[in-house]
Amino acid sequence: MGIYKYIYGPVPSRRMGISLGISPIPKKYCNYSCVYCQLGRTKNLTNKRNEFFDLKEILKEFQDISKKDIYYDVVTIVGEGEPTLYSELGRLIKKIKTMTDKPVAVITNGALMYDEKTRKDLMKADIVLPSIDACNENMFTRINRPSRSINYNNMLEGLIEFSNHYKGQLWIEIMLVKGYNDSVDNLIEFKKILTRINYDKLYINTPVRPPAESYFQRS
Ligand code: SF4
Repeated sequence: MGIYKYIYGPVPSRRMGISLGISPIPKKYCNYSCVYCQLGRTKNLTNKRNEFFDLKEILKEFQDISKKDIYYDVVTIVGEGEPTLYSELGRLIKKIKTMTDKPVAVITNGALMYDEKTRKDLMKADIVLPSIDACNENMFTRINRPSRSINYNNMLEGLIEFSNHYKGQLWIEIMLVKGYNDSVDNLIEFKKILTRINYDKLYINTPVRPPAESYFQRS
């Protein structure tokens, strides 16, 4: 599979079986710079959605792979950065769904949930897996270190709004980071927040790979 630029795998995925990945963004284009990021600090901190790669090129690769006898359980739109920054995400999902019977999932940091167009794009996916690592703006700034245009409350309200209308599977992930968001009080806050989100599954995780910051400790 080494000849492909946008498609990788199939690889075993923690949550979804065998996953065929699509990466629609260049490496480390993200609207966060999380302290635990295994890719290191975000060099290209941006919150501007863009057609980084030609949609037709990505679809051509997928079509090519579809002709081969490759087993996978799910198509996952992910990448080494934030895939919702891809401005053609909605069209990408829609087209991929015409080319496979398997579910299409999007793994996202959830930052753009405040944006109506992004929510509309994500509605087309079968599974959406957003993260939420903070209970308030201060914690958000410390852990996720977002682009300045992103506000915690807008992000959270967007996620709640999305969860109330989304027909697919919504799987939330919380990354617990020692000393940042893992106190008993923090967990009580998370519980309150989660009661406002209409989700299907919750994954609580701790970072297992080397993080962006060397001062950081695993939970
Ligand atoms: S959202 Fe993901 S890619 Fe972006 S900085 Fe955080 S961990 Fe890294």
